[in-house]
Amino acid sequence: MAAVKPRLVLATHNKGKLREFRELLRGQIPGLDVDTQVIDAAAAGAPDVAETGVTFAENSLLKARTVAAATGLVAVADDSGLAVDVLGGAPGIFSARWSGRHGDDDANTALLLAQLADIDDAHRAARFVCAAAVAVPGTVSGTAFGPAAGPASGTAAGADGVAAPAAFGLRAAEHVEHGELPGVLLRAPRGDGGFGYDPILVPDGLCVSCAELAPDDKNAISHRGQAFRKLLPYIIAALERN
Ligand code: IMP
Repeated sequence: MAAVKPRLVLATHNKGKLREFRELLRGQIPGLDVDTQVIDAAAAGAPDVAETGVTFAENSLLKARTVAAATGLVAVADDSGLAVDVLGGAPGIFSARWSGRHGDDDANTALLLAQLADIDDAHRAARFVCAAAVAVPGTVSGTAFGPAAGPASGTAAGADGVAAPAAFGLRAAEHVEHGELPGVLLRAPRGDGGFGYDPILVPDGLCVSCAELAPDDKNAISHRGQAFRKLLPYIIAALERN
């Protein structure tokens, strides 16, 4: 029996993100076995990509392009972080290393809370932000997927609301989408779930922190879930091209 060929690589080394991404794609793309054909950067032998961009979108595109070129597979990447209104959007792209130690969630959170100690509750608005990108290997970069002449009339949306690629007139090699989860920052961490700044952000309309939400409940509203869901039609189109 012929080995199953991977078709899609998620430019991450984070197994949690891969799991989330596979669930999002499951049953959405005819003929795609998400458990064997959707792989992460390590499984694809892809290099680590330095995040040298200055926006989430630039970093996500950089990772998707580089991994697509290195593997010959359609690549999807995301870049995300926390943007605090009163800090003008910081920590932003520096979220993972705000305290100076990359990935030290406790230190990053403690520093941010100290910086905001004097800020009253009315001014503690913040949001998780995510950019998610897809890139097709072997095509000219710098162009964007998009409607050829605005959204086609009679957009063909599937039962799940995902529009069919033809409806977008997709014509190019890469595309970025965004998602946001707005909320208010607490004064001390609450909850044991999640990661990063989850224990200090209470999403608007809820009274629990992201770290107190069940994973599926967070994914349903998260910045990453939103960005990936918006990207889905473009991923489908990309797979049809490659
Ligand atoms: P990355 O996009 O996975 O590199 O995330 C960058 C950083 O942003 C993480 O290390 C976290 O500090 C923060 N971050 C991104 N998404 C989330 C989230 O969903 N919850 C909490 N923190 C997040």
